[in-house]
Amino acid sequence: MTVTGPVAADQLGVVLPHEHVFIDLVSEYRGSGLLNDEHLARQELRALRAAGGSTLVDLTLDEIGRDPAALRRAGEASGVSIIMGCGHYRDPYLDRGWFDRTAVDAIADELVRDITEGARGTNVRAGIIGEIGADRGYISAAEERSFRAAARAHARTGLTISTHAARWPVGIPQLQLLAEEGVDPRRVIVGHTDSVPIPGYHLALVRQGCYVSFDSIGTGSPYDTDRAVDYVLELVRAGFGAQILLSQDVCLRDHLKATGGPGYAYVLTDFLPRLIAAGLDPEQAQSFVTDNPRNALTGAGG
Ligand SMILES: [Zn+2]
Repeated sequence: MTVTGPVAADQLGVVLPHEHVFIDLVSEYRGSGLLNDEHLARQELRALRAAGGSTLVDLTLDEIGRDPAALRRAGEASGVSIIMGCGHYRDPYLDRGWFDRTAVDAIADELVRDITEGARGTNVRAGIIGEIGADRGYISAAEERSFRAAARAHARTGLTISTHAARWPVGIPQLQLLAEEGVDPRRVIVGHTDSVPIPGYHLALVRQGCYVSFDSIGTGSPYDTDRAVDYVLELVRAGFGAQILLSQDVCLRDHLKATGGPGYAYVLTDFLPRLIAAGLDPEQAQSFVTDNPRNALTGAGG
């Protein structure tokens, strides 16, 4: 399900599974943390289209400015199929009092409504659950409710769950919590894996069957991008190439092409060629942005 209606799985084409078109991170990034320029968004998305990209997963949630109507306009104007997320982000963005007062099933009901009817008073439907976040190396009380609600919404709708697991190896307890609620790890994308500098962690995740999202490609430092090449090659060598996803997590104004940043097409124009130059089979490299994200979104394959 995209913001402009259903798209057949075989029509998804080249997919970026973790991005943001409009977002408000001003509380953390005063200067660069607001993406709200629709003209600029269209321009950036058209550059993605020109580079061969066809589908973008926007994981912006209500705590950080999700705008379903603007996403639909951006999708219509750019020709990029945009898949919208739903659910709750992470501490400290969460309204903890609301989580204290609201039962897990009631939280799940809201996600299911976003998925089956539409979000924020529109008929724009979510096509993925996420990014469901844990802010630090543990899952907080409010975050635990959010994860359980995501799991129950998944059970009711079949949609994939995508998580925010940055810096610390918190993807492991996330998978464990979701499994407690009956979620098969193969229906989970653990996010920001490249921000956790522990290759053994990446391996432990894929061994459980989930997808790992190396999604700060080009938006981090050159060192981080170099390391991401190593991380990808290590998983390929270990035989887990079918569980690798790549994205840029564009979420700041500095990340956009117009401001000198990598933009939405960096994975396609720069990173895949680097992987191939490092010895990766070109067909396998292409599968990281085609077969793998399609399977991750639909639950097919693996
Ligand atoms: Zn993100």
